[in-house]
Amino acid sequence: MRGLLVGRFQPFHRGHLQVVETVRRARPDADLLLVIGSAEESYTWKNPFTAGERFEMVDRSLSPSDRACVHTVPIPDIRRHAQWVRYLESLLPSFDRVYTNNPLTRLLFERAGYAVESPPLYERARYEGEHIRSLLAAGGDWKPLVTPGVATYLESIDAPRRLATLRSKGGGRDEE
Ligand code: NAD
Repeated sequence: MRGLLVGRFQPFHRGHLQVVETVRRARPDADLLLVIGSAEESYTWKNPFTAGERFEMVDRSLSPSDRACVHTVPIPDIRRHAQWVRYLESLLPSFDRVYTNNPLTRLLFERAGYAVESPPLYERARYEGEHIRSLLAAGGDWKPLVTPGVATYLESIDAPRRLATLRSKGGGRDEE
């Protein structure tokens, strides 16, 4: 048995970790594919961190037992949503269940016949990527919203300065 959790993880925060732990508790014997989506994106307001940096954040957040069962795979987006699930299937080992709260992701996987579950949102107002990016850019209190490993890592790559630069460049709005 193998589940799939897809996200951008910009950055990987405690809400994401809560989802991983909930899924692992529900199916302790199953592996989990943690797909880093939009892997080709970086240095934009919506996607400030490279796929490799996001991989580091996941790796520094998981417990040793979770790390043994969670397989992190960066995957670039494709332009055609209608083909996306087949594209993932061509790159990944088989999986039987998908975990997401993203409406488009749910729609596409349901259309392809997968069982889709939406783990409960964990304090969504606080644990939300754009909120954390805004705090990073403004010198706010972002550290409690990520794991200690991610906080240390984000400091080591000077993430607050990167976010402040990207916000002033893009006006803090998503470039899409
Ligand atoms: P995200 O990092 O915003 O969220 C990842 C998951 O975590 C989501 O299910 C979200 O609901 C959940 N989450 C976030 N905060 C939470 C909290 N506090 N508590 C509990 N759960 C929480 O990523 P996303 O934007 O959903 O990522 C979807 C990815 O799939 C993107 O990379 C997107 O580009 C990709 N995608 C690609 C295509 C394509 O290539 N055509 C099509 C669809 C989706």
